Amino acid sequence: MPRRHPTEGSLLAEVERIFPRKVVQKNSPANRSLVNQLSLGIGDDAALFRPTRGCEAILTCDWFLEGTHFLRHKHPPDSVGWKCLARAVSDIAAMGGKPRCFLLSLALPESATGSWLRGFLEGLRRAARNFECVLAGGDTTKRNQIFINITVLGEVQSGRALRRDDASAGDLLYVSGHLGEAEQGLHLLRKHRGVAPRYSRLRKHLYPEPRLALGQWLVTKRLATAAMDLSDGLSSDLSRLCAASGVGARINAQKLPLVNPLPSPHRARQKTKSAENEALQLALHGGDDYELLFTVPRNKASRVPTSFGGVPLTAIGEITATRKILLVANGHKPATLKPAGWDPFR
Ligand SMILES: [Mg+2]
Repeated sequence: MPRRHPTEGSLLAEVERIFPRKVVQKNSPANRSLVNQLSLGIGDDAALFRPTRGCEAILTCDWFLEGTHFLRHKHPPDSVGWKCLARAVSDIAAMGGKPRCFLLSLALPESATGSWLRGFLEGLRRAARNFECVLAGGDTTKRNQIFINITVLGEVQSGRALRRDDASAGDLLYVSGHLGEAEQGLHLLRKHRGVAPRYSRLRKHLYPEPRLALGQWLVTKRLATAAMDLSDGLSSDLSRLCAASGVGARINAQKLPLVNPLPSPHRARQKTKSAENEALQLALHGGDDYELLFTVPRNKASRVPTSFGGVPLTAIGEITATRKILLVANGHKPATLKPAGWDPFR
């Protein structure tokens, strides 16, 4: 029997099969308030969203492109589905907000309309449930490569969003998690032939977790003066936060929460120094971690726990009045830290 060509209608039917409309109307009591905000979901010309009283909306969108952000022969389709939403939702976490709903724009070649699309939608659905973010609509078209664009709508109490531009000299600088973990996973994936194996070291790269609970906690406790998520690497993202706030920073290299180096057969005892340096470079410039970078006034620092929800929180330095970003390491002169993280144009 000849294979039937997909149509836009058959793609939408696949989306609706995995994201059934009843999810919008009928849901668990825990999700009811969230679902009720979407008074009309997928299936009409546009969705209708009912904002929460006392909140302001957060809007963000993100590209996720084959060849630029993922490779079809390396990244499992469900990880593409999970990650495209996770990285967009991470920007809501960085503002201290709650994600509410999202729009999916998807361009696909015909070769990706079968099992690839199913796997992608399964990963996307798992992420949507995890982050309590409902699919509100979208658009599909045909293209010779996979192009994904996600728009997320979130909310935060009016006037309480965590911004990049309020850090002051003397504030302590914190990060969540371990830095460079996702980039280390990418290195492993590149070395591996074929589709990603199920290594735990790849988790952070394939299935990142936006720090939603931490962002909301920082808002509730009024602890952070400024915050952002680490998507492109500490050196690049910190320079953005400092530029927005009109300040500089001093990072203590010894304080950075590094990843454990990968075991290597070529690495003899005397080479542990180079392994340490590799971990430091990953922490400074590695992208895709989606951890939070935030500043806390010194007099509130004792209220920041050493971990939050099992994720370590580490003070890595301080904000300074001089606009330079310096890296201080034991036995070395302070050195200027230049932005050298992920840049699609580089
Ligand atoms: Mg961001």
